[in-house]
Amino acid sequence: MVVMSTQRFAEVFSDVHCSSILHPWDKGCISSSPLLYKEAFVGSAKFYAIIYLIQILMRGKNMRRKKEWVKMGQYYIRSTLLGQLITASAPNISCTLRKLMGNKFNYYTYLFIPFTLNGLFIYLEPPSRRGLVINLFVNLYIEYWLRVLQRANYINITKSKQTILFMAGSAALFYLMRLEGDKKERTPLFWLFTPEKVRRKTEESKNVCPHDGPCQNHIAKGYATYFGVGLAITLARVILPKISSPMRAISSIRGKHFKLALFFGSYIGIYRAVICYLCRKRGFDSALYALPAGYLAGLSYLFSPSLGMAIGSVTAAMKLYSTILYEKKLIPTSVPLPELLYCICQGTLFHARIMQPDVCPSYVFNVMTGCSNGRSEMIAKNFFEILEKANG
Ligand SMILES: [Zn+2]
Ligand SMILES: [Zn+2]
Repeated sequence: MVVMSTQRFAEVFSDVHCSSILHPWDKGCISSSPLLYKEAFVGSAKFYAIIYLIQILMRGKNMRRKKEWVKMGQYYIRSTLLGQLITASAPNISCTLRKLMGNKFNYYTYLFIPFTLNGLFIYLEPPSRRGLVINLFVNLYIEYWLRVLQRANYINITKSKQTILFMAGSAALFYLMRLEGDKKERTPLFWLFTPEKVRRKTEESKNVCPHDGPCQNHIAKGYATYFGVGLAITLARVILPKISSPMRAISSIRGKHFKLALFFGSYIGIYRAVICYLCRKRGFDSALYALPAGYLAGLSYLFSPSLGMAIGSVTAAMKLYSTILYEKKLIPTSVPLPELLYCICQGTLFHARIMQPDVCPSYVFNVMTGCSNGRSEMIAKNFFEILEKANG
């Protein structure tokens, strides 16, 4: 596949009418908008329904209080609005830029600048959730650059390298999480599992482990719970899109659908087993045990490898570490660095969806198709048809 360059873009697209590669359903820049705003609302509502369902499953016991459900509902509305506004305002900005440039498209004004500018809608998310979204996009951004470097033959990302990355990331992450354990305000982090606090030695308790009851129960319960969560997520992903014919969806379940469950289950199981072993062996608990425990738990990555997950473990650890730096006032709090970073990530990734689809992370395809209710696919199809025609 030919890599799209600035020059090639200018040759093929600078004189193309904006309706063909921004709003193919309607010729007019303004008249095409209402439909897109409506579609983006429906698409975002559907897309975030699945995301929130997964988050509710992950939160488990915390969802017992009614207050939590109200909060989740409000967040859901804000996320849907975010998805709608980002999706639908991008063509508005792009058409305006094209007019300003004398009815010509440019490699950067087509998607990169519009999606970088409207990344500011991230302020719609409440601060606690904003960090998680920014975190996700930074992960995708790193994944994108790794793929770009791999395509250019600078690096080679093998499965074993990914596994080692995930093991190291998990070790650092669990260690920092346990260090943070005693603080009132924990850094908001969306990770598979929050490790137990370090047990301080007291006179009345003979238990050296960070949990109550026998170790086997603790380990088995962790394994079973997370196996269940992994299975529930997979089933939600398989069944929800085919909700109209649930029986057919259920009959399509295969062995591969258990991979995520095995990954989740062993991840927590191995972690807990190593912690308990070290606590018993040495007779006291320490945050440091999370290093070997997290490292070995990372082996379960082999059940369900995804580059995004490996990067995620490392950036989550980096995020915890940056909280420490903020607290020590080594990073100034006055500059909205994370939000600006988000804008760059969003601009680059949504631009890559069309310009470099071969190195664009699959989540970006999903989020764009989902939030635009399929409109982004129409645009991509037109874009590549024009390109093919030009290539002859
Ligand atoms: Zn237009
Ligand atoms: Zn134990």
